[in-house]
Amino acid sequence: MSKLSNKIRTYSIVLFANLFAVLSFAQDKSLIVNDITQLNPIKINSIIAPTTFGEIMEAVKNHKGPISIGGGRYSMGGQTATENALQIDMRKFNKVLNFSKAKKEITVQAGITWRSIQEYIDTCNLSVKIMQTYANFTVGGSLSVNAHGRYVGQGPLISSVNQIKMVLANGDLVTASPSINKDIFYGAIGGYGGLGVIVEATLSLTDDCKVIRKDTLLSISSYKEYFFNHIKNDTSIIFHNADFYPNRYKKVRAVSFIKTSKEVTIPDRLKPLGNSYSFDRLAYKFISEHPSGKWVRQHILDPIIYRKETVEWRNYEASYDVMELEPKSRKKSTYVLQEYFVPVNKFDQFYPLMTSVLKRNKVNVINISIRHSNRDPGSLLAWAKSEVFSFVLYYKQGTSQGDRDKVKLWTHELTGAVISCNGSYYLPYLIYATKTQFTAAYPNYKQFFELKKKLDPDNKFRNKLWDAYY
Ligand SMILES: Cc1cc2nc3c(=O)[nH]c(=O)nc-3n(C[C@H](O)[C@H](O)[C@H](O)COP(=O)(O)OP(=O)(O)OC[C@H]3O[C@@H](n4cnc5c(N)ncnc54)[C@H](O)[C@@H]3O)c2cc1C
Repeated sequence: MSKLSNKIRTYSIVLFANLFAVLSFAQDKSLIVNDITQLNPIKINSIIAPTTFGEIMEAVKNHKGPISIGGGRYSMGGQTATENALQIDMRKFNKVLNFSKAKKEITVQAGITWRSIQEYIDTCNLSVKIMQTYANFTVGGSLSVNAHGRYVGQGPLISSVNQIKMVLANGDLVTASPSINKDIFYGAIGGYGGLGVIVEATLSLTDDCKVIRKDTLLSISSYKEYFFNHIKNDTSIIFHNADFYPNRYKKVRAVSFIKTSKEVTIPDRLKPLGNSYSFDRLAYKFISEHPSGKWVRQHILDPIIYRKETVEWRNYEASYDVMELEPKSRKKSTYVLQEYFVPVNKFDQFYPLMTSVLKRNKVNVINISIRHSNRDPGSLLAWAKSEVFSFVLYYKQGTSQGDRDKVKLWTHELTGAVISCNGSYYLPYLIYATKTQFTAAYPNYKQFFELKKKLDPDNKFRNKLWDAYY
């Protein structure tokens, strides 16, 4: 009997220990914050997903250690976390608070995604004025990087923001706009969660409309002139970008979406949800892995895709889903973005520097999307210090330490090249730029840091970006 009870006791202990191990692993896993690249796992201490202003204010006021803020977690370098932090996951703070069709204005909680806003306003024939190409991002995350899209005659997201509300390190709720608490407005937008939690935003909207796609193939050396002669001042063009083809880097396909009264060829007003995107995902795999993938894309796939006349709604073209890019696994290799901005008069100086770095380092570039942006109206951490062209680099890299080291090296070179052209690089991506490169690219960093010291004297709001540079 006692032997049996001993056995039972031993089994129970083993069972309990295993159960405990499984539970703590599950708990540990939920405390690892990572981003879409899967390159930056960070162990945090705890996480909350507030649904009320009060919860955010209480948490910020009472928490003693570091606090990080998470939106959609699509930034790619640990910008939403740091070790042992409390992460405020904003994704459930996602309601529409006010909407006026007549004023073309919407007020939202900051964890809402562009997609949810689009679903809300589409029935009133309205559109988001400025956003990224994909609609999965949260408004708070987009404001904090001061995102941009392919909109002609626009620029950084801040230009479409009427007002924000923020929770500061002491738990106070403040309103900020271009006229009220200006310093907070111009610091927090593009401030990567360093000054506080953006909880609410009032955005100005615009009319939805039908657009027809037109494209033209050009040599890269003629693109700048083409843009200024045919695109920049044409108010009927809504979206425009140029795809710069690797690996020869000689040609671009300039693509515009122009207002039209023609019948739509795609009746959906928004991209349908839940699409498997099997063709797109296979195409990205082929382009990035097959030796002739890039040639086939430029000379066969794209000519077929662009042959067809396409008329669609603006909201349809603005509601891409990042799922279309997602590979089966990101274990051995992963898709990553980088972005570089140059003053428009440095376009012809920068692209040869960039392509020489990419060629020399045999970077597996899938696409470079060239876009234009007006000058930033005053953000402290403006990436558009003047009117700029941007080069959005989409590439594939291995995940081993050796592969990461290589990427770090050529990223330093590219960042050096863009700084030599008086340009800048985008901060939501891998945090490889040196402190000197950061301060050269963001010359108003001192004002931002002074504001942070004033509003957040204990350096509560932290993440990998501010750990690197603040
Ligand atoms: C496939 C893909 C395509 C992209 N295309 C574009 C593009 O076309 N244009 C462009 O500009 N960018 C683009 N990006 C970058 C993207 O815009 C940014 O990474 C953006 O931050 C993503 O939003 P998010 O909600 O995921 O933010 P997160 O990654 O969650 O957060 C980004 C930063 O904002 C902070 N933050 C989040 N919410 C708040 C809040 N409420 N208050 C204060 N701080 C907050 C975080 O702490 C973090 O520092 C792209 C990224 C991917 C992966």
